[in-house]
Amino acid sequence: MKAEIISIGTEILLGQTLDTNSSYLSRKLAEIGIDVHYHITAGDNKNRLCDSIKAALQRSDIAITTGGLGPTIDDITLNAIAEVAEKPLILKKEIIRLIEHHFKTRSIKMPKNNIKQAYVPKGAIWLKNLTGTAPGLIVEIYKKHLIALPGPPREMIPMFEKYIIPYLEKFRVKKSVILSRTLKTTGLSESQLHNKIAAFLRLSGSTTVGIYARPSQVDLKITAKAADPALAKKQIGIIEGKIRKKINKLIYGADDQKLEQVVAGLMGPSTISIAESCTGGLISSRLTDIPGISKNLLFSIIAYSDRSKKELLSISPGLLKRHGAVSTVIARHMADNIRRIAKSDIGISTTGIAGPAGATHKKPIGLVYIGLSTGKQTIVRKFNFTGSRDIIKFRTSQAALDMLRKFLLK
Ligand code: ATP
Ligand code: MG
Repeated sequence: MKAEIISIGTEILLGQTLDTNSSYLSRKLAEIGIDVHYHITAGDNKNRLCDSIKAALQRSDIAITTGGLGPTIDDITLNAIAEVAEKPLILKKEIIRLIEHHFKTRSIKMPKNNIKQAYVPKGAIWLKNLTGTAPGLIVEIYKKHLIALPGPPREMIPMFEKYIIPYLEKFRVKKSVILSRTLKTTGLSESQLHNKIAAFLRLSGSTTVGIYARPSQVDLKITAKAADPALAKKQIGIIEGKIRKKINKLIYGADDQKLEQVVAGLMGPSTISIAESCTGGLISSRLTDIPGISKNLLFSIIAYSDRSKKELLSISPGLLKRHGAVSTVIARHMADNIRRIAKSDIGISTTGIAGPAGATHKKPIGLVYIGLSTGKQTIVRKFNFTGSRDIIKFRTSQAALDMLRKFLLK
């Protein structure tokens, strides 16, 4: 079965409303094995909407619209569907009663406009709106399924889950599901990672692997199509095992896991302290998003100015003058000193040039040093990040957390 999604609304075309309905519906349809071939966005214009519905139903078995079912003048979905179906709109008393009840429970008199929502094209199945007034519709047109759902996600989602999933399940000829698992990496660029696992990216058939890059993060998405969820999970597990054999250390987590969450989970009884210059507290902020981190994170200092590096971290003025704040030596001393001051097991430091100003010939924008001090040893890594100021800050926090993760894994 092939499906298309038509999101309706000029505000979506203008970019004022983000079309989250289409992404939600695509994900859900994939889960029940229905392929989505097109996303269409149509403005609040009846002729163009009719054309979009016709085109979708000519190409595919199912067209799902969202939006434009409201009571106002610009809500034209109902009329467009009736026109394409060549059916008159019939007033349904039962729907009027439901809408009246909706307003009564809110102590509001039903506005006259809302009567418009009680009309349905002759022969259509209508669906009760559990959280609003506009009913949904299922209409057979050209022997295909046209499904119309309200625009607001809090109305659309419950309606889709309660009525549409069971409705579509019945028509699935060959039952199959599509499941995905995302393996998350940081530290390598997309092309570096690509080279390590190129063979997997060439997989074709029921299990495939895709690569998706974001700043400081490259995801590998394993997707399997199978007869049932257990089989799909098994197929995913086999490929995941093979990928992990090659690059296990690079994978910090899967699916919704965040790097800071993984790091916090690895911390055990170890204590840490952080001295942040160019990250301005970002690493501490990310770690303190994780509940329970207070047992590990003893001290966090934002030592952005030279004076704070001297006065709060006891960095000697001579060293600062000789090497400059952005240097291996200062990163090392910041990490060592914060660890000693906090009496923690581990000390982390960042110092760098986030730009757009502050660069010199020898110290370009994106030059960052990250220190990790453990008492036994102090590691300082040098990075040359690219991007805007906020991206360089994020990349630095990502690299520091990943250094910590790899240390804790040992
Ligand atoms: P209403 O009865 O609220 O008018 P409706 O079915 O007519 O509902 P629209 O008027 O098209 O729907 O949209 C109402 C609101 O729903 C929008 O302002 C927007 O917040 C949200 N919405 C509509 N379409 C989408 C979409 N594709 N993705 C996310 N949100 C949407
Ligand atoms: Mg509306």
